Amino acid sequence: MNIYAYTLKELEEYLVNNGFKKYNATQIIEWIYEHKVYDFNKMTNLSKKLIEFCNENLYFEDLSILKVETSKLANKYLLGLKDNNKIECVLMNHDYGYSLCVSSQVGCNMGCSFCESGRLKKVRDLSLEELVGQVIAVSRYEGVRIDSIVVMGIGEPFDNFENIKRFISLVTNNKMLNIGQRHLTVSTCGLVPKIYEFADLETGVNLAISLHAPNNEIRDKIMKINHAYKIEKVMKALDYYIAKTNRRVTIEYIMLAGINDTDECAYELANLIKGKLMYVNLIPYNETSNFTMKRSNDFKIKSFYDILKSNNINVTIRKEMGGNLSAACGQLRANEEGEK
Ligand code: SAH
Repeated sequence: MNIYAYTLKELEEYLVNNGFKKYNATQIIEWIYEHKVYDFNKMTNLSKKLIEFCNENLYFEDLSILKVETSKLANKYLLGLKDNNKIECVLMNHDYGYSLCVSSQVGCNMGCSFCESGRLKKVRDLSLEELVGQVIAVSRYEGVRIDSIVVMGIGEPFDNFENIKRFISLVTNNKMLNIGQRHLTVSTCGLVPKIYEFADLETGVNLAISLHAPNNEIRDKIMKINHAYKIEKVMKALDYYIAKTNRRVTIEYIMLAGINDTDECAYELANLIKGKLMYVNLIPYNETSNFTMKRSNDFKIKSFYDILKSNNINVTIRKEMGGNLSAACGQLRANEEGEK
């Protein structure tokens, strides 16, 4: 088994079940994550017997990087999985450090009408080693420490909830990737039951929600998930999350010309979230050749922003990092798969 397929607790259990000590897991983990030693023979404080056992049963394997697109502030990577599926992730160079946007599934079944990732249906969930593998592969390739992670790549993380929970545990464990809970953000299109479960984990991990519309009429048209969970249900779940964690929720709102960018929409959105511990991130839509939807022009975005601001809503306009990259979520993979 790939060593990156284990959380600390799981490795402890595995070693104990095979006659070793619980603390052996911590020793191994420290070698790997702290000392960057990827050879069991060089782990000098392990017994001969344990080294032999590890060599026989465990290995180190990175995801392969198939393609890199670079720009000034962000690099995009196409990664190959063992079964020849492909995923992508994006490294962003912020003034506060490196942030990596990771994928959670191969493809996506949520079927949002503007999104490239969903054009290719879900093939399967990513395993823990593939979730963590993205962080490890990019960080090694670039020789940088990744300071924060957003789960906003291809896929719906809450549709792969068990592995996302294990990913959170591995990423935030101070003996493992050691990324603070507050530096990890999970974004969902609004799988309501999972929002409650996520709240009940009581971690400090951030939650972002792809709202993209202030009412059911518009949201129904652009996001299939809204047929299952209406905005009122999403809001109630977010209220629960906030009450439980006291963490601010990010509302993601893509600006789509003529669809959700009118002044009325801005007023309606302001009313919907007024007084709640939430902030709005307005996202200029990345147009792709496969959809006819257009990005709102800068004046519209500014006017939307101003209305929210004047209604005392915390709001930012997402800084565009991608430039020349096939920046739309899933676009690089979709293009590659399309070439076949
Ligand atoms: N399934 C999760 C996470 C992946 S999508 C979710 O829905 O939140 C990450 C974000 O990118 C979502 O807000 C999604 O709506 C947005 N997105 C998708 N396609 C986009 C595009 N072409 N331009 C800008 N944002 C896009």
